[in-house]
Amino acid sequence: MHTPLCRHAVGEPEEYVRQAIAKGIDEIGFSDHNPMPDGYDAAFRMTVEEFPSYIEKVVRVREQFPDFPIKLGLEADFHDGTEDFVYNTTNEYDFDYIIGSVHYLGDWGFDNPENAKRFEGRDLFELYRQYFEKVARLAASGLYDILGHPDVIKKFGHRPERPYDDLMGQALDAVHRAGMSLDVNTSGLRRPAKEIYPSRRFLELAREVGVGVTLGSDAHKPGEVGHEFGAAVELLKSVGYRDVQRYTQREREAVSL
Ligand code: ZN
Ligand code: FE
Repeated sequence: MHTPLCRHAVGEPEEYVRQAIAKGIDEIGFSDHNPMPDGYDAAFRMTVEEFPSYIEKVVRVREQFPDFPIKLGLEADFHDGTEDFVYNTTNEYDFDYIIGSVHYLGDWGFDNPENAKRFEGRDLFELYRQYFEKVARLAASGLYDILGHPDVIKKFGHRPERPYDDLMGQALDAVHRAGMSLDVNTSGLRRPAKEIYPSRRFLELAREVGVGVTLGSDAHKPGEVGHEFGAAVELLKSVGYRDVQRYTQREREAVSL
């Protein structure tokens, strides 16, 4: 779940919680975009100064709904040169989980629709190689608990013609070694990719390696809470998953599907 602090989400946490309760969801977590240093992607995230108010928002909504479990998380970018900053900010508060996401290749914010033109004429296999290589380094950094929207490089529907199992496999090995889970994220269904993140093939490989999963809708408005969770659970079961991971104070626990 996001909050208006990231400048591209609407609705206060209270509205997200009410939606979750109405949909019969057992618990939710907020994981807004982290502050980053030196103006990195500043248009799409809270500032360092706003960081405490994010924590306060979540603490306040927890107090408002004492019987409903609400987790405090963060979606933190992985980007070269910002690792120390991310380490410091993610250890500043008692987070339940930290989602690690790749949104940039070099200076290209590739998941921003305004920059989607830069996919044109590119060698997609090579872009996927760069993306999954960065995912492997994200995992090896040890900064994160969950890999966010694992194959978001497909967001606008660009997919290599050649198979790329090896690229996914190398990323998954690193995720496994780091003891991380995968964010099975239904927001991909709302994008031109029209597919959950990650793909069925990715999940099949993940299951072979023994990587766990969490369930997320990446809601940027209250109506998106729990979006298409039925489809996500069906997909997970069909590749052999029997449980999902639930995080508290950065420890995970398996919950049966
Ligand atoms: Zn966002
Ligand atoms: Fe993201």
